[in-house]
Amino acid sequence: MEKTFGIIKPNAVQKNLIGKILTLIEESGLKVVEARMETLTKPQAEGFYAEHKERPFFGSLVNFMTSGPVLLFVLEGNNAVENYRKLMGATDPAKAAPGTIRKLYADSLEANSVHGSDSTASAAREVAYFFGDK
Ligand code: AMP
Repeated sequence: MEKTFGIIKPNAVQKNLIGKILTLIEESGLKVVEARMETLTKPQAEGFYAEHKERPFFGSLVNFMTSGPVLLFVLEGNNAVENYRKLMGATDPAKAAPGTIRKLYADSLEANSVHGSDSTASAAREVAYFFGDK
């Protein structure tokens, strides 16, 4: 069993898509084992996206991610990191495959509705960042 970390981003929460997105996740066989809703602070979002701090989109990304409540969650399952990334689809919704969460529900490259860890190492760091060292 593997764990991965995800976020339903402010645009999707605002559009009442939490239920639809969690349904796709649960129907894929992944299990939600932790979840918490909150509005991120600037320092929380800046720390979470620290690897992108030199990128031109960093300021806009932090503003977007702190613009409203998000759902933070941990998923568990076989190959959870890879399976959840496949379910999300490509970061850019224009390139996301049919049936993926981003193809169905993203508004733009930035407001792409969901986050998911990109490796087991990132998953461990991100789970610990938001849910402590469980
Ligand atoms: P990632 O660490 O891959 O999740 O990327 C962080 C997030 O930054 C993505 O999920 C998008 O919301 C956003 N993002 C990535 N690339 C761009 C870009 N070129 N322009 C604007 N936002 C971006």
